[in-house]
Amino acid sequence: MEVKLLSHTPEPERVVATAARLCYAPQAAAEVWSGFTPDKQQEFIGKLASYGLFSPFEHVVFTFAIAGVSRALSHQLVRHRIASYSQRSQRYINEAAFAVVVPPTVAADPAAREEFARIIGQIQDGYNRLTALGIPKEDARYLLPNACQTQLIMTMNARSLLHFFSLRCCRRAQWEIRELAWKIRREVFKVAPLLFREAGPACLSQGKCSEGAMTCGQPYKREDVNTEH
Ligand SMILES: Cc1cc2nc3c(=O)[nH]c(=O)nc-3n(C[C@H](O)[C@H](O)[C@H](O)COP(=O)(O)OP(=O)(O)OC[C@H]3O[C@@H](n4cnc5c(N)ncnc54)[C@H](O)[C@@H]3O)c2cc1C
Repeated sequence: MEVKLLSHTPEPERVVATAARLCYAPQAAAEVWSGFTPDKQQEFIGKLASYGLFSPFEHVVFTFAIAGVSRALSHQLVRHRIASYSQRSQRYINEAAFAVVVPPTVAADPAAREEFARIIGQIQDGYNRLTALGIPKEDARYLLPNACQTQLIMTMNARSLLHFFSLRCCRRAQWEIRELAWKIRREVFKVAPLLFREAGPACLSQGKCSEGAMTCGQPYKREDVNTEH
């Protein structure tokens, strides 16, 4: 899996701090913007979460290139509606030699690995036979598995990212999207540490599990944030 932060709103922390401060300041927006030193930003952004004021986080967006993930993952990812996506098309790209994501449980078991590879080979042959018969790619793709690798560009604002992390950095999320969520968290933390220092699964960011009876019972610790994926 590859995750690359392609671009983001310039000075994201200053934008969020200015948007939040503007709500309560008598000065003009331009004055609030120019008055924000890094120290003041840090102090101010620190207070936002405690006020429950998250709408200023919507003013900054982050765009990622995501590659080497499965269609099973992308199906879960696009359920997060407060975002924009562009995904490699199976209608227009020939998938004659499609690559797959192999789940770790399958990879770890020689018999399962062999069975998985055998069935993927059959699907590949079937896809190629259909296209050779003149079936359009958009119809031959009905044979393709969830394991098929895909690529996406995703743009999400900081508020939606915080929500995404609360759900998908969680141990209850499936291993692949959890890996993606932690990788994205790492990328945004590099460029906006003040905005994302509390980001993570609900057990960290909200101090309590949101999974109710489905809880994993193994809350993350603050120190896990630096080692996860
Ligand atoms: C562990 C786990 C298991 C899951 N299992 C399943 C499953 O079995 N089946 C399944 O279908 N999905 C499943 N999902 C997906 C889940 O139901 C959500 O679709 C997904 O997590 C996106 O969350 P969201 O809707 O909060 O995010 P977004 O779509 O980004 O929305 C963010 C927030 O905006 C608000 N919002 C957005 N759209 C609306 C709207 N139309 N009306 C009102 N408020 C809105 C809500 O407050 C929402 O929380 C699972 C998710 C997780 C994390």
